[in-house]
Amino acid sequence: MTGMWQTIGHNKAVSSLARALGEARMAHAYLVVGPPSVGKMTLAMDVARALNCQGDMPPCGACTQCTRISNALHPDVRLVELETDDRGRLRTAISINQVRDVQREASLKPYEGRSRVYIFDGADRLQDAAANALLKTLEEPPNQVVLILLASAVESILPTILSRCRRVDLRPVGVEIVADHLVQHYEFDPHKADEVARLSGGRLGWAIRAVADPELLEQIGQQVEAVERTVQSGLESRLEYAAQLATRFTRDRADALGELDVWLGWWRDAMMVEEGTPELVRNTSRMSELGAVADRMDKRSIAEAVRSVGRAVELLERNVNPRLAIEELMLAIPMPQPVRQ
Ligand SMILES: [Zn+2]
Repeated sequence: MTGMWQTIGHNKAVSSLARALGEARMAHAYLVVGPPSVGKMTLAMDVARALNCQGDMPPCGACTQCTRISNALHPDVRLVELETDDRGRLRTAISINQVRDVQREASLKPYEGRSRVYIFDGADRLQDAAANALLKTLEEPPNQVVLILLASAVESILPTILSRCRRVDLRPVGVEIVADHLVQHYEFDPHKADEVARLSGGRLGWAIRAVADPELLEQIGQQVEAVERTVQSGLESRLEYAAQLATRFTRDRADALGELDVWLGWWRDAMMVEEGTPELVRNTSRMSELGAVADRMDKRSIAEAVRSVGRAVELLERNVNPRLAIEELMLAIPMPQPVRQ
């Protein structure tokens, strides 16, 4: 592998991109797919640097081009993301105007670099008109332009867009890679690093945020407790919880999806305990609670719970009515049986 790639742990993706770059056969459009905070943006920025780097081994990370890209000062590298509305709330989709701005600019020669790079953060959140406009650019890509589309799920992406992008899948990296990074770069003690790395589920960006913001860990703790309370509770409080979470979803999608991610992690943990592999548990501080649930449920019910959470996330990402999706989840989560004698 050559160059100073800042992407950590996605060696296959990096070496394949580095090879394409070395052999001058980069695609005009990439679709990078992976869960939130897994490293999609870091990889996209690496590609932007690599395409414009003046060093011998791109991306060198040190030349003027690399530095200006890293500092978001490079006029040829643009980020297209969800904008906020007049009331300061994040819009739910990337608009056609944003795509048109890109198209106008993309037809011009790069100002100072070799390539114009447009990074679409949320390619799964394009308005229909925006997606169709983007398709035109993908069908006839201008020279010296590379589009990098980032998405956490491919289900909401038009097949015609999918078929015109070279796809790069990023999966969570090994927990030990995350832990090692926290020890090396953030002077974490190994025990704490291991705890945060497990909680991150192999998403380095999440772990780095948790390092910078201790409140995030506290918040996760509270969410885990809410999950445990809800699992133990009856139908009425479950539906109350569903209504609450649905309201939060309408206000702040990412926040509510984050909480469902906690649900998913917790049920996967229960499965690990049930299967006798507690060393794979994410929520290491909840071993006794997880053990109690594993004692009171069989493997099939736990597996059903894991599937149900996954299905709810999928429905929400497809813009199904959030209250319905979360209520369905609450009904599908099995009630724990009294302790077996
Ligand atoms: Zn460079």
